[in-house]
Amino acid sequence: MTAETPRQRRSLPLRVKCPQCGKVTPYEGNPWRPFCSERCQLIDRAAWAEDKYAIASEELPGTEEGEE
Ligand SMILES: [Zn+2]
Repeated sequence: MTAETPRQRRSLPLRVKCPQCGKVTPYEGNPWRPFCSERCQLIDRAAWAEDKYAIASEELPGTEEGEE
């Protein structure tokens, strides 16, 4: 079950907070939304990729349980 609520149904100006640096940035006409800039988007993507790789590396095969 997802707990998603439609927040953007009101007549508010479309603005989002950059998940990376927290800067409020316009949503419309922003090619890097919800980020404020390409830089923040790249940082977030890099962090995401690193996390993914970190998880993958933890699943290395060949774990020895000390069986003799
Ligand atoms: Zn930003």
